[in-house]
Amino acid sequence: MAGRQIYYACKSCNFISEVNVCPRCGGECSKEWQGMVVIADFEKSDIAKKMGITANGTYALKVR
Ligand SMILES: [Zn+2]
Repeated sequence: MAGRQIYYACKSCNFISEVNVCPRCGGECSKEWQGMVVIADFEKSDIAKKMGITANGTYALKVR
């Protein structure tokens, strides 16, 4: 990753992307988030279960 790319996290599903409208659910995204978790196999991930994640991807643990 080069440069100073800003990443946004969705306030609804916590999905991290480079755009300020969530490409997954269309929800509002925030630059104010903490912690990053990569879900590679959501069906076997306890974190994914806890967070209600139903797709693989990169997610923020906390979104403000
Ligand atoms: Zn979303």
